[in-house]
Amino acid sequence: MTEFKNIFLQDSKIAYNQQHRRTLNFNISKYDEAVAKGKLRYTNLELAKQRVSYVKDKVVADLATQLETFEKNARNNGIEVLWARNGTEAVEEIKKVLQSVNAHVLVKSKSMISEEIELNENLEHAGYQPVETDLGEFIVQVAGEKPYHILTPAMHKSKEDVAELFHKKFNTPEHSTPEELTRFVRGVLRKKFTSAEIGVTGSNFLVADVGGVALTENEGNGMMSVSFPKVHIVITGIEKIIPSINDLPLFFPLLSTLGTGQQVTVYNSLFTGPKRSNEANGPDKMVVVLLDNNRTKIAEGKEHFKALKCLRCGACLNACPIYKNVGGYTYNTTYSGPVGSVITPLMKGFKFDHLSFACTICGACTQVCPVKIPLHDLLLLNRKASVDQKHGSLGWNMGMKAYQWAFKKRKNLDIVNGSLKNGLLKLQPDILGNRKKFPRVAQNSFSKQWIINKMS
Ligand code: SF4
Repeated sequence: MTEFKNIFLQDSKIAYNQQHRRTLNFNISKYDEAVAKGKLRYTNLELAKQRVSYVKDKVVADLATQLETFEKNARNNGIEVLWARNGTEAVEEIKKVLQSVNAHVLVKSKSMISEEIELNENLEHAGYQPVETDLGEFIVQVAGEKPYHILTPAMHKSKEDVAELFHKKFNTPEHSTPEELTRFVRGVLRKKFTSAEIGVTGSNFLVADVGGVALTENEGNGMMSVSFPKVHIVITGIEKIIPSINDLPLFFPLLSTLGTGQQVTVYNSLFTGPKRSNEANGPDKMVVVLLDNNRTKIAEGKEHFKALKCLRCGACLNACPIYKNVGGYTYNTTYSGPVGSVITPLMKGFKFDHLSFACTICGACTQVCPVKIPLHDLLLLNRKASVDQKHGSLGWNMGMKAYQWAFKKRKNLDIVNGSLKNGLLKLQPDILGNRKKFPRVAQNSFSKQWIINKMS
């Protein structure tokens, strides 16, 4: 209970921070406008969603076969495929690759999986220098922060915040414009791209039939991370698999439309191995690390397997009324928002159960999801599991039992009068947080008043 209370009180502090809310709502409103326009380009958006959902349903139901097909075809392409049961194993595999080529500097394109396994922290600790090359990721890395949003890492910062940050860290002119700041970052990163020994990317899709890794991005930093360094490491979750290259024309546009409102993202690449003997450019070696980290456990869940269909488009975060108020950092997890609240307790255990309760069950997330994940239903199932497994404190569990008993029958609720109910509520004066007061309960319930009035 204390844990629940602390977390919710912390949430309410952030929710009442007007500046934070202004920046967040401004940035999400830009997204909303772009996505509304983007959706109009589809003649039948619902059909596209149904198709993508169908493909992912089949993939998740047959994950092992799809992954074996991918592995076989990737190896035939000259890609080294490694399997990691958890973050520790994944980091160790990556370190071995770094040691094998005596690498020190790595350039990284945006990857939430690398956040999940805390790759930067682990590599820095071991003496390596990982450099984020996505502009948003670069900003949060310079600020010493974590990504705020799964698609838009620096969503919580205004252009003024970034100008101030860069002025402090790099002595760029005060009040620089976004164009000036971008030019500055480009100059910094060009040198890193050409000097790094290793490029690390995530993957948007693992394409089974061609044994390739598909990447979609807007800045070209992903392609540069692959093209210049001698080794390309891909770190990816096993659920990113899709059956065929023929699925990409369906997946790429839907991901970008729901993610950013674009018809299609600027750069879409398919990497099918290291440089061939007849090719002048590209990495000498390509390694794909396939991370499980409890995904197979989620795949076995009767309903929760659906969460593995996620494309990480970020649409459910932007639609969520809770996310819009408390923002990304309150979740204190790699994956925030509705999808984060669904999968984090499954991946990291019941201490993250409270996330499933930070939800109004309005269903906005389910409505926007391009792969039709019933997010609000899964959140309810998480709540049920939490209650069934008695993860709350003794006081919380007993309180819930009493609540259940009282609300089961009107008769039970009417056993005590309004004065006693008000007295009980006084024992928990901040039950709705310290900014809201519970209204006084009437002396008689509605049904009692009805009977009294009828008789008088
Ligand atoms: S759950 Fe759906 S809406 Fe949310 S990030 Fe994943 S694909 Fe996008």
